[in-house]
Amino acid sequence: MTATVLVVEDEPAIQELVSYNLELAGHRALRADNAEQALEMVRTELPDLVVLDWMLPGMSGLEFARRLRTDRRTHAIPLIMLTARVDEKDKLTGLETGADDYLTKPFSPRELNARVKAVLRRRAPQATDDAVHVDGLQLDPVSHRVTGNGQTLSLGPTEFRLLHFFMTHAERVYSRTQLLDQVWGDHVFVEERTVDVHIRRLRKALEATGHDRLIQTVRSAGYRLSTA
Ligand code: CA
Repeated sequence: MTATVLVVEDEPAIQELVSYNLELAGHRALRADNAEQALEMVRTELPDLVVLDWMLPGMSGLEFARRLRTDRRTHAIPLIMLTARVDEKDKLTGLETGADDYLTKPFSPRELNARVKAVLRRRAPQATDDAVHVDGLQLDPVSHRVTGNGQTLSLGPTEFRLLHFFMTHAERVYSRTQLLDQVWGDHVFVEERTVDVHIRRLRKALEATGHDRLIQTVRSAGYRLSTA
């Protein structure tokens, strides 16, 4: 599975280097030259991760990070800060603001990819290639296969993403808007009832092995995957 990574960097060469390497690693890179443009982009599509330069013209990277963290919709987006500074105090401020990690320039593509992978694994497991298991149900993002008690189950691409998100966020309730943001990456142009349609298809696909019971409706709140 590929992660959508928003790269906010005003220096064209570094923006290109970071984006190119993310794409080589199989991710999808969205590019912004400044924080104002990045905020605009986040409004229409929620990325799985933001790689953010500290020193930006106009709104600073720090201020952008604060805005992400204070908005309920964006507060959980993992964040890696790029900094030219080696000052310990600055690193601390960055981490206090909610950055999950930081890279000091210059950094190697290998270092970047390793950090991205570690942060995604910790904060956005649905965007990694790790296989997940819940109660006899297994989903493998690499082979794109889902099995229930060893039996292959057939899922459409959206149901697959939805199930992957649920399995990596078990026991938590998500509203339709949150699911649109997390699974479709968009709560603006997709209608909420779309979620209900795909939940129905997902349950149907899991019926063969009885795993449809895991996908639960929580009245007036949304949906969750639960073994209880
Ligand atoms: Ca800069």
